[in-house]
Amino acid sequence: MTPIQERVRIRSDIAAMEVYSPTTSLEVFAQQLGRPVEQLVKLDANENPYGSSPRARQALADLRTAHIYPDPETRHLRAALSQYVGVPAEYLLAGAGSDELLILLLQLFIEPGDTILNCPPTFGMYSFDAPLFHARVINIPRRADFSLDVDGIERAALESNAKLLILCSPNNPDGSLIPLETVERLLKLPLVVVLDEAYIEFSGTESMARRVPEMPNLIVLRTFSKWAGLAGLRVGYGIFPLEIITHLWKIKQPYSLNEAADAAARASLNDLPVLLANVQKITTERKRLERELAGFPVLTPYPSRSNFVLCQVNGMTAKALRQALAAEGVVVRYYDKADMRNFIRISAGTPQQTDVLLAALRKITGGDNGRA
Ligand SMILES: *Cc1c(COP(=O)(O)O)cnc(C)c1O
Repeated sequence: MTPIQERVRIRSDIAAMEVYSPTTSLEVFAQQLGRPVEQLVKLDANENPYGSSPRARQALADLRTAHIYPDPETRHLRAALSQYVGVPAEYLLAGAGSDELLILLLQLFIEPGDTILNCPPTFGMYSFDAPLFHARVINIPRRADFSLDVDGIERAALESNAKLLILCSPNNPDGSLIPLETVERLLKLPLVVVLDEAYIEFSGTESMARRVPEMPNLIVLRTFSKWAGLAGLRVGYGIFPLEIITHLWKIKQPYSLNEAADAAARASLNDLPVLLANVQKITTERKRLERELAGFPVLTPYPSRSNFVLCQVNGMTAKALRQALAAEGVVVRYYDKADMRNFIRISAGTPQQTDVLLAALRKITGGDNGRA
């Protein structure tokens, strides 16, 4: 018998990769704490605490077309999105989460060894996906206040001949916006700017999406995961220049956006007053979080234009704080890496969830936050 390695020939770079360990699942957490999942206050993944819209839920219940392949051109959804975003449907392509669109872009642009520019700390998926396409990633770190090092990006772009610059605004994990003038300046570079606006609905600013038709090198990625509460169904979309979208259509898997997700997304766009009222409640709660968290000496919150608040943790480890909060049934995300030493990120939940969080923080830090 030939040895197994000679019959099953996994790509050597992937075979050498370490196994990815996602954060502990809620079920595991709940089990460890001896509480049902429903009692956990889940503030670790920027999900929508109000869930999906009533019309989206109804559309799922009423779905009668699960046995038919979905429309590969998603014409109805793109027509509705055209209204919502304010660009003609020909600039729009929807997929299974913006995750899929990011991978499509790498497939379209990257030949082995090509360079992409990344500005960490930022969303992990950009650097996670790149090696699978043999892309070279050049990191131009953000400053301590999470603003972009624009000169550094320009220098790296020109020296490396990079094809793509990936930007996130509001940025995950801190929630800062990239100023419009900065994006405009970076659009002058000889590369394509991919602007991830997953949280734009929470920002109180306008999306750059409407600029795409006049900008041959601007791509805007958006999603239903956060503001519309459809994270579990995977619906994302992009606004692309025509010169780029033509080629994306050639390589996209025709049925990646499934019929249920498509129906729920369309129903969401038909339920905007409800969803935008939820967005309003969430941003109000984020502001309350920023205010209240600043009263705890153990935390230094960063200003956010999104649906989460990043905090530097002082006087204890972020990991210990995360564990202590989990023991109180509150799940948050923590960071302890070279460029993110001792931070936690807390998603904005309902007012009741904030109350539970604040009570847990008071208990853990052994005092009030200067208010209670
Ligand atoms: C949550 C999030 C997304 C959403 O991705 P989907 O695949 O659409 O769920 C995209 N970008 C950032 C920065 C995010 O935090």
